[in-house]
Amino acid sequence: MNLVPEIVAIDTEMRDWRHRLHANPETAFEEEATSRFVAERLRAFGLDVHAGIAKTGVVGVLRNGASNASIGLRADLDALHIHEQSGVPHTSRNAGRMHACGHDGHTTMLLAAAKALAARRNFTGTLHFIFQPAEENEGGGRVMVEEGLFDRFPMRAVYGLHNWPRLPAGTFAMRAGPLMGAYDVFEIVATGKGAHAAMAYQGKDPMLFAAHAISALQTIVSRNLHPQDAGVVSVTQVHAGDTWNVIPEQVVLRGTVRTFDTGVQDLIEQRMRALVDGIAAMFEMRATIRYERRYPATVNSPEETDRARRAADAVVGERNVDTNPMPEMTSEDFAFMLQKKPGCYVWLGAGRGADTPNLHNPHYDFNDGVLAIGASYWVKLAEQELPVTP
Ligand SMILES: [Zn+2]
Ligand SMILES: [Zn+2]
Repeated sequence: MNLVPEIVAIDTEMRDWRHRLHANPETAFEEEATSRFVAERLRAFGLDVHAGIAKTGVVGVLRNGASNASIGLRADLDALHIHEQSGVPHTSRNAGRMHACGHDGHTTMLLAAAKALAARRNFTGTLHFIFQPAEENEGGGRVMVEEGLFDRFPMRAVYGLHNWPRLPAGTFAMRAGPLMGAYDVFEIVATGKGAHAAMAYQGKDPMLFAAHAISALQTIVSRNLHPQDAGVVSVTQVHAGDTWNVIPEQVVLRGTVRTFDTGVQDLIEQRMRALVDGIAAMFEMRATIRYERRYPATVNSPEETDRARRAADAVVGERNVDTNPMPEMTSEDFAFMLQKKPGCYVWLGAGRGADTPNLHNPHYDFNDGVLAIGASYWVKLAEQELPVTP
């Protein structure tokens, strides 16, 4: 392990920041106190601070030397709507809200990197420290891009990081191409004709539609996709009926689709519409489908992935960096930034053995043991990308 000394020196301070953030979680676009916490510290480190981007987003700018070179490093501020059950001393004080995805740790590591880089001044160019709101569900990263993030703060490339409890602490994983999936949601409403359940012949039973549709939707991946292409279709909600002896008028199905490739995404949506229309026709009823594309796939550019790998190698050593991990169909709104700029999103191993609670679990707590590893990665990456030329 080759940690940055200026990071190691503030390990206790990092833990303190992380615990304060953890105890005071705020959710999408309401990260007011968190945003102030970040802005105050960045100012104290001597950065130019721009707050109020995408409501609660903050960008800290650190310049050194004469070079025009520039990159962005990004963390996320928001917590989730979960009742914490971790039992740690710094448990959430905001009932029903919890830092269960480790964004408290991400924010802390990027703040620590800003402090160390401002002290070391061992780079030339401009560093942009991007603290985005609303990563979970609401696409704060997209809003920042729409509000001109890359016009106001020109940068060549952008880098992101997520702690990954399924990987052991002291490791990194990244890959060129898709690392995480696109996130789509759908809602199907089938309207038949309600009837007495004993006189079913007088109705049009939407329950039959639901039964056939749930099965048929599973044939898209198994019968329409090339076996080497990846996709997930999950029906996660079925709503219909209130009692024993009534055939309901309507059924609502909801769910999610995950893909890595827009061609596959198009194919799934198109097949879904055709199946829904066909099944509705089969049972003589109407069905509508609302299909919404939320987050695109998180796709790393090859050159920046190699740059990220070198920085990770410099911290934890080559044999602790996996450059070909199996991608996951979870998703990430950093994808919107990667659509505009080359860059790389990496997983920072954070596991503490087989029983480590995973992300979004009420027993989860960010592993403080990896704060210095993640923050050192940011420092090494920044100094590697904006080198001081003799
Ligand atoms: Zn999450
Ligand atoms: Zn997260």
